[in-house]
Amino acid sequence: MHLITPAELLAIAREAEGRRPCETCAPLVCPGWEQLPAGFAESDLQRLGTLRVGEDEPGWDEYHPSGTRLWSADAPIAPGFHPYNRSEVWACARCFRPFLRWTEFGGYYEDRRVRELRVDLVHIGPGTAG
Ligand SMILES: [Zn+2]
Repeated sequence: MHLITPAELLAIAREAEGRRPCETCAPLVCPGWEQLPAGFAESDLQRLGTLRVGEDEPGWDEYHPSGTRLWSADAPIAPGFHPYNRSEVWACARCFRPFLRWTEFGGYYEDRRVRELRVDLVHIGPGTAG
């Protein structure tokens, strides 16, 4: 799978800035991580690549310099940190609006999560991979 570098992630986010979601992807637009809506069609999104570097299990450190939490709507999108280090980048098949996706595996469940890729939240700095 194509590895998306932090610089590339930023470029994808920048290009989408200010673009309005089309009706296909509008239900997916959410500032923080949410569960992928039931009934969502996989074919509505196309995979651009992954933020996961290498084959090793990604780390669990999170990046929250401003006291946000994983689920916060304004949590930084920081490549190299959980859960971005195990996320994939997808885009709407119709309007190309970008999203992040990550599947959380629990003991008895599997949660598919989605978050819109917002340029103002992308953090690239010390500790980020790539
Ligand atoms: Zn769309």
